[in-house]
Amino acid sequence: MTNVTIWNEFRHEKTDKEVQEMYPNGIHGQLAAFLGEDFQVKTATLDEPEHGLTQDVLDNTDVLVWWGHIAHEEVKDEIVERVYQKVLQGMGLIVLHSGHLSKIFQKLMGTSCDLKWRENEEHCRMWNVNPGHPIMNGIGEYIELEKEETYGEHFDIPAPDELLLISWYPGGEVFRSGCTYTRGNGKIFYFQPGHETYPSYYNEKVQQVIKNAVLWCQSTRNQYPNYGHFESLEGEDKR
Ligand code: ZN
Repeated sequence: MTNVTIWNEFRHEKTDKEVQEMYPNGIHGQLAAFLGEDFQVKTATLDEPEHGLTQDVLDNTDVLVWWGHIAHEEVKDEIVERVYQKVLQGMGLIVLHSGHLSKIFQKLMGTSCDLKWRENEEHCRMWNVNPGHPIMNGIGEYIELEKEETYGEHFDIPAPDELLLISWYPGGEVFRSGCTYTRGNGKIFYFQPGHETYPSYYNEKVQQVIKNAVLWCQSTRNQYPNYGHFESLEGEDKR
C-alpha cells in the first residue's frame, strides 16, 4: 500500500470564512478524502511540531503532497533540507498550486519559480499535451475548470522533463500547468489547480490527475544506491 503524506500550510482555513466554507476540513482534509480512497494517507500541517514532518514520518512516506501559500517563509530550513534529502533518496513529491513558491520546490528547481497571476474567477481550460503519459490516464483531451486563479507565463522553472498540461485563460494567458521532473532518485510533479477559494479539489478530473501522480511519483523501493568507495564485486580489488 502506498503511503501518502499530505502537507498543508493550513492558515487560510483558520482565518478566512470563504476558505472555511469551501474546505471545512482544511485543504489537506479534502485531499485526504479522495486520496484515502486508493492510498494510505496521513496529514501534516505547518503549526505542528517539526511541521508534522519528523524523520519518522518522512521515512514512512512514499509520496509527499505539498500545499502552501502565505507562510512559505515560516517553513524551517532544517525541515526543507530533510524533505530535500528524502526526495534525492527516492520519495515522490507533488507540489500543488501556490506551492510553486515553496522553499522546497525552489530548492529542487534551482530557479525563482515565479509567475504572473490574477485572481479574477476566470475560466480555465487545461489541455492534455501528453496523452500517453500515465499521469494523464483517463483525463481525455482537456480539463475544464469553471473558475481558477489565472497563472501565466513566464513561469520561471527549468525545462520540465515532461510537459503534460498547458492551461488557457480568457485573458489570453497560457501556463505550463502539469510538469514532471526527476531530482536524484526522486520524482516530482507540479500541478497548478487549487486556489483556496475555488472548488478545484472537488473536480473529479483534478482528483484523478493527483491520484495518477501518486502512482507515478512513488518510490520504486529499489535499494538506495551505494555512493562513495565501493569494493569490486569480482573479488579482491587489484588496485
Ligand atoms: Zn492561489
